[in-house]
Amino acid sequence: MYKCGNCGKDVEEVTNFVRCPFCAWRILYKPPLPVARNVKTD
Ligand SMILES: [Zn+2]
Repeated sequence: MYKCGNCGKDVEEVTNFVRCPFCAWRILYKPPLPVARNVKTD
């Protein structure tokens, strides 16, 4: 699942073309995974 960087809506299972179906924004990002990872804020 991706998240639109413009409208903030969830974009689910995009295909070979990553674009927001709501606002046609191209910059999508993956929200933080619910998996506990060691992230150093250095
Ligand atoms: Zn959007």
